[in-house]
Amino acid sequence: MRIRPDLDTLPAYVPGKTFPGAIKLASNEVTDPPLPSVASAIADAAATANRYPDNGMVELTDELAKNLGVTPAEVQVGCGSVILCQNLILVTARPGDEVLFGWRSFEMYPVATQAVGATPVQVPLTGDAVHDLAAMADAITDRTRLIFVCNPNNPTGTVVEAQALHDFLAAVPSDVVVALDEAYFEYMRLDGPYSYDALELRREFPNLVVLRTFSKAYGLAGLRVGYAVGDPQVITALNKVHVPFTVSTVAQAAAIASLRAQDELLARTDAVVAERERVTAELRRLGYRVPPSQANFVWLMLGDDAIPFATASAEAGVIVRPFAGDGVRVTVTNPAEDDVFLKFAASWAGN
Ligand code: PMP
Repeated sequence: MRIRPDLDTLPAYVPGKTFPGAIKLASNEVTDPPLPSVASAIADAAATANRYPDNGMVELTDELAKNLGVTPAEVQVGCGSVILCQNLILVTARPGDEVLFGWRSFEMYPVATQAVGATPVQVPLTGDAVHDLAAMADAITDRTRLIFVCNPNNPTGTVVEAQALHDFLAAVPSDVVVALDEAYFEYMRLDGPYSYDALELRREFPNLVVLRTFSKAYGLAGLRVGYAVGDPQVITALNKVHVPFTVSTVAQAAAIASLRAQDELLARTDAVVAERERVTAELRRLGYRVPPSQANFVWLMLGDDAIPFATASAEAGVIVRPFAGDGVRVTVTNPAEDDVFLKFAASWAGN
């Protein structure tokens, strides 16, 4: 078959595996099922499944725009924010162009970059697992077409300092799109030098595109809805490559209902944040190296122990996400599940 040979080196995305009875802390999901109001919107929408979805996603786009204080022309909804990552690459980069991002970060950045034949440029994180924005600025070339800054970073949970982010944006050529991937936005509790507002930053840096999702705090991972907020020029381009009808009627209705219930949904993040702090403190007490996280997961800097740790954890009934030779990402959910993981972590540490 005439498959593009340059795809040979492309690793396939491997989702977290699970088995019956396992506690799944591998994909940064929430444990709560949809709220009754969301479940009923889903059921109502399912009853119209014989019709195509609204391809313009008008009601959801309008509702999001109102919520965010932007115009609908600045919002693009997609089938998960992962598609918007991919489509941003599609509308900016051609073969030979460069897509720049910190590494380690979200695994789809290099995959989607290589999928269009562009070149991923990966700038190592600092020793504290934080984006090295100064080094990223130095890595910009005249072939750079898109830059991802994942904040909080997946899988390390770390965030950049606000001043460093501002300096970085000021250093990026104004015609190069910067995608600030805030998939875990709702879990951030930023203060002091870390405090920033991405939507405010857009006023100063129109090349900034903000990515968020309904998969995490809004608990709709299974329905696939994410969105981008950006300059209308970028949004128009994203809209051109949007594959028609990929955000289902059910997904749109669930996202709208979730926005209407956002006070209740966002209140739930407080409990996860409290768990995150508890789990981090306990892991550190056990001797693990865990950077501060602003997401719904923590990062264990285990180096070569990453795979054996995750394998043993799975044998203990808890699925976590290892990155070979680097570390293990563990989702934080509720005290019952987290305690099972902590018990394993204590036994691994020899306590
Ligand atoms: N960005 C980051 C940083 C993520 O961690 C994820 C989910 N793992 C996504 C984007 C994609 O999320 P979704 O497609 O579910 O919206």
